[in-house]
Amino acid sequence: MAMDYDLIVIGGGSGGLACAQRAAEHGARAMVIESHRLGGTCVNVGCVPKKVMWHAAQLAHAAHDARDYGFDLALQGHDWAQLKARRDAYVARLNGIYLANLEKRGVTLLRERAQLTASQSVAAGGREYRAPHIVIATGGHPLVPAIPGAELGITSDGFFELPARPAGVAIVGSGYVAVELAGVFSALGSHTTLVARGERLLRTFEPFLGEQLAEIMRDEGVELVTQATPTALRRDAAGQLRLELADGRHLGPFDCVLWAIGRLAAVGDLGLKNLRIVRDSMGFVRTDAFQETNVSGVYAIGDVAGRAQLTPVAIAAGRRLADRVFGGQNERRLDYDNIPTVIFSHPPIGTVGLSEAAARHQFGAAVKVYTSRFVPLYHAITTQRPRTMMKLVTAGAEERVVGIHVIGPGADELLQGFAVAIRMGATKRDLDDTVAIHPTAAEELVTMR
Ligand code: FAD
Ligand code: NDP
Repeated sequence: MAMDYDLIVIGGGSGGLACAQRAAEHGARAMVIESHRLGGTCVNVGCVPKKVMWHAAQLAHAAHDARDYGFDLALQGHDWAQLKARRDAYVARLNGIYLANLEKRGVTLLRERAQLTASQSVAAGGREYRAPHIVIATGGHPLVPAIPGAELGITSDGFFELPARPAGVAIVGSGYVAVELAGVFSALGSHTTLVARGERLLRTFEPFLGEQLAEIMRDEGVELVTQATPTALRRDAAGQLRLELADGRHLGPFDCVLWAIGRLAAVGDLGLKNLRIVRDSMGFVRTDAFQETNVSGVYAIGDVAGRAQLTPVAIAAGRRLADRVFGGQNERRLDYDNIPTVIFSHPPIGTVGLSEAAARHQFGAAVKVYTSRFVPLYHAITTQRPRTMMKLVTAGAEERVVGIHVIGPGADELLQGFAVAIRMGATKRDLDDTVAIHPTAAEELVTMR
């Protein structure tokens, strides 16, 4: 049977758009099927609007520090609605740019909900479309706990709809979303409670990062409740929210409760069962190293595949897949090792490579670690003096750098270059031989002893 396209991509988010556009650049006839706004999670309810809010929170901190720098500043409050309007307008502009980019490259866009019906066939908008290559790039959606009253809370999607700043907010979770949004709420003036089911924040990262962030957050007035597993959320007679915990504790009252407990693959109505596509125990689509599912010619990229749920990962996987399938680059694929990532907390956290524990597990005694803890120059004269902390993890006699972990102002921007160095196999000696840039925080990483 004739093919309508060379490639059909389901999902017009970071990964799907990148894959379709790269395929079109290689000359493929590509179609993207997207049921909501172009750009997916990152552009509409993720990285982009989140970073705008992060900048607002940074300004709130700076305004506070400005007094220590001699400014006579009196903040007259903060207009959340105005910020939201400007943020939403920027996102709408991006939606338009993404559409123009598709048109420029000759990629067909179908604004429908898509379902897989066979290995080379997709149903959308009441008809079938056929292609020899189909990419699942449907992303994920926030998980909501299965407890009574959970629907009274919001998720990160709801955060971006809030018309005004809630006075009192509880955030359940202790991963990326929880610490990032807690930082925003707190800096902009909400009384913020972070509810973690374990003892530590950011449990999956190098431990000192979460410990130091917890200390800084506490100093700034965030209430941290640990060992706390919610069992119910209720609205009291006054209309306020109350959170009940497994050990009998009650938290509240809150104006808003936000679930930040992870994300699930968005595959509910996708028809995976029609093709018997295999998923892992968490429901993410299983792929091989080349992003191909167990069904030949059907691929999965980005959040739906569950590995490193980050925008640049989705984009890189999508582009490399298109290069391989349509660009003749037979071995092209994404290497999932050493992916740098930043947690946009206040201050930010940058981390790449192995934690000390993971390195010791992998390399045993041949691991050497360098640490640094200092007050960054910016805070040398401020009342609040949060410490910057860094850890460099090396392995082997040549001391190859296998991990870098930083919490402190500038950690977000300094990490990218060091991630390149790690990828190129830099050793401690290479860092030592690099002339420092003074005075910066980054120079610590090339002067550690
Ligand atoms: P998505 O971007 O989610 O796109 C999937 C698209 O598929 C959606 O547009 C959806 O509507 C569409 N779709 C789904 N099912 C169908 C169907 N059946 N038919 C048609 N269309 C369908 N990552 C970073 O790197 N940096 C950050 O700072 C960052 N911040 C984040 C902040 C928040 C609050 C969140 C939630 C995430 C953040 N992320 C960040 C993660 C990042 O947003 C995701 O990793 C990225 O968007 C994944 O891209 P994707 O293409 O896999 O999926
Ligand atoms: P994360 O996986 O980062 O964190 C999930 C958190 O939820 C963990 O703290 C976990 O606790 C906790 N948790 C899980 N289940 C429950 C439960 N039933 N009750 C209470 N707590 C629970 O997920 P997020 O939702 O924060 O973010 C999703 C993904 O989006 C991230 O993994 C990241 O890939 C991406 N993202 C990236 C950002 C960036 O690049 N800056 C920003 C935001 C999101 P425990 O530690 O005990 O398991």
